[in-house]
Amino acid sequence: MSKKEAVCSFCGSDRQSVGMLIAGVSGHICDNCVEQAGKIILEEKRHEQPVQKNTSPSKLALPIPAKIKATLDEFVIGQEDAKKVLSVAVYNHYKRLNQEQIDDIEIEKSNVILVGRTGTGKTLLAKTIAKMLDVPFCIADATVLTEAGYVGEDVESILSRLLQASDYNVENAQRGIVFIDEIDKIARKSDNPSITRDVSGEGVQQALLKLLEGAIVNVPPQGGRKHPEQKMIQIDTRNILFICGGAFDGIERIISSRVNRQAIGFSNIEEESIQDDNLLKHITPTDIRSFGLIPELIGRFPVLTYLEPLDEKALKRILTEPKNAIIKQYTRLFEMDGIQLKFDKDSLDYIVHKAVEYKLGARGLRSICETILLDAMFQAPGNKEKELSVTLSYVKSAFKKSKLSKLKVA
Ligand code: ADP
Repeated sequence: MSKKEAVCSFCGSDRQSVGMLIAGVSGHICDNCVEQAGKIILEEKRHEQPVQKNTSPSKLALPIPAKIKATLDEFVIGQEDAKKVLSVAVYNHYKRLNQEQIDDIEIEKSNVILVGRTGTGKTLLAKTIAKMLDVPFCIADATVLTEAGYVGEDVESILSRLLQASDYNVENAQRGIVFIDEIDKIARKSDNPSITRDVSGEGVQQALLKLLEGAIVNVPPQGGRKHPEQKMIQIDTRNILFICGGAFDGIERIISSRVNRQAIGFSNIEEESIQDDNLLKHITPTDIRSFGLIPELIGRFPVLTYLEPLDEKALKRILTEPKNAIIKQYTRLFEMDGIQLKFDKDSLDYIVHKAVEYKLGARGLRSICETILLDAMFQAPGNKEKELSVTLSYVKSAFKKSKLSKLKVA
């Protein structure tokens, strides 16, 4: 067939009447038909999806709490209390989902609040659980949310992300996990509900309630702000697990004054031991309330737990122990070039020490490693040596040359 005579083998249109005609082995297809076929495939896939992943959407293969915790142990260092509390909360939540209603006992949802400094593993915990259960997961930042009608994102945009994470499979999204970061930043600024509207604080908390209450919510598929002409997708939030994280800076003071108030009448020794402890351990919903979260919102989070600050020992473990520990990742990267990377113990100590000194926490470990290994990653692939030992002196000089060392020690 000559080029002139070519027509679309699907719809019969000739070259002139279509935008593009693509040649195959024994025929042609026009751009319109490609588009049509694409739509058909997408539509088919959408119908197929529920049977693809978690075979039955109503039943989830659920590991027991000890198993959940064991998996968390593989990825998250320390944080024993948080892991235990979270394992039970997640287990109960999904057990509730799997349960067939036979009587009036309706098990309530176990949304969770995790309190702990930034970079201590809050997001990592939530992410690891979602991965283990193979349910859609998304992270939302509470600070960008505003009440409907104000500049910023509507709270429904959180669910848009979950929808995206589930490839727009509504059924799967409805059993997903949402991690809302920096929940403490939408605390009411003062105890006094002010005369001026609190657009980014209490207003957002009120708006969030709607999602947490287990309602059918109209969600703009692409996220952002809602507008009238937009097509909405309805999502039932009843079975979505919400995990919130926040540093709650200064909450120790609230806890301390509460604990000490209660401790009046007890011996001073007991009071002192509480002072010395990690005060977050004693956190209760009343402290969160004093911090500025409204009681209705707190009521939707029956599970409250804390994360410990990470000390040098924990940071060192984070560097080497988790399944995808940073050092393991670099070792693999070099391995791909046929190079064996070895770290001296002293060099690891130095990296951890710098992360602590510059108050960079666990997140800093990665940037320090990246800085230190930059030259090696640049040169090693072209070198003949098939072994690279990262010694203390190597690490020291690489760090001194780096921009990181110019940072002021906080
Ligand atoms: P946040 O508490 O601010 O949510 P993340 O969970 O995002 O902190 O932690 C940041 C990074 O630091 C993680 O990706 C992980 O690499 C590392 N990290 C933090 N805490 C831990 C921990 N307890 N165990 C293992 N890695 C951790």
